[in-house]
Amino acid sequence: MKEEEIRPQRIFDEYLRLAKQDTGTYFGEVEKVSGACPACETVGEHAFVKYGFTYETCPNCHSLYVNPRPVAEAFSKYYTESPSSQFWATTFYKETAEARREKLWKPKARLIRDTMAKYAAAHHTLIDIGGGFGLFAEEIRNLFGQAPIVIEPGPHLAVVCREKSLPVIQKFLEHVTPDDLPKGPKTFVSFELFEHLHDPAAFLHQLNGLMATGDLFIFTTLSGSGVDIQALWEDSKSVTPPHHLNFLNPRSVALLLERLGFQNLAVTTPGKLDIDILVNNHAAIKDRFWQTFVATATDAEKAAWQEMIASTGWSSHMMVVCRKP
Ligand SMILES: [Zn+2]
Repeated sequence: MKEEEIRPQRIFDEYLRLAKQDTGTYFGEVEKVSGACPACETVGEHAFVKYGFTYETCPNCHSLYVNPRPVAEAFSKYYTESPSSQFWATTFYKETAEARREKLWKPKARLIRDTMAKYAAAHHTLIDIGGGFGLFAEEIRNLFGQAPIVIEPGPHLAVVCREKSLPVIQKFLEHVTPDDLPKGPKTFVSFELFEHLHDPAAFLHQLNGLMATGDLFIFTTLSGSGVDIQALWEDSKSVTPPHHLNFLNPRSVALLLERLGFQNLAVTTPGKLDIDILVNNHAAIKDRFWQTFVATATDAEKAAWQEMIASTGWSSHMMVVCRKP
């Protein structure tokens, strides 16, 4: 898989340009609150400033995160009305939906079903938190017959899911109660949501309250110790405020899960794009080894490294499987 197939550079750069403008409009004058590392609560160290947002690294667990943070209301306003959010939901989505369905969502649907089977959860009701346009839910239904329940607060997105005849709970997770959900064992999933969360611990605490003993939570997010993020650092297009606030890693996410009372079953990094992202952003690479590598390595060497990066836990795309004990 190539980055261009799921994030065409022309459209993605336009989105990032709009997002940069929006940071001034929606966060420029907003109150900010200081906090500690979202994974382990250690006080962080300054890393860099990007588009007016300060990123810190944790000296204990090496998470990368925005601190201080604009108050949550600023993010709500941004996500509901900003030009870049509109662009993402319309132009970006329309132009990339079918490619993303094939390249991302079909494999992800299979991976989730395989993972559920591995942890004896094949019979669980599947619940997709932040289901967006419902592509994952559709693929699950296409492949396995039964649609997941989608939790999606956005009115526009909830309509899109209903038009696809997907069951939707149109609420923010913090307003969902156990009565909104079906009885019986459940597996919750969320994809590329965790890095956006204003308060990851509060999210996990809320989710824990909706889970019964034995229920699973499977989520994907960005790992800040992944190769492309480490090599590009503040110039990484993944490190973009106001969207991406939390970059945990396989070790730090384990600390967070333990702190919130989850049983950590597996943290893997099944990413496929680190090397391709470095190739596409070669001028911004900070490190001599990776500069030389992307300039001279053969396709076969790049593929071998990508596999090794993913299998050893050093890709920037991370998947976490945990259980309520
Ligand atoms: Zn930490």
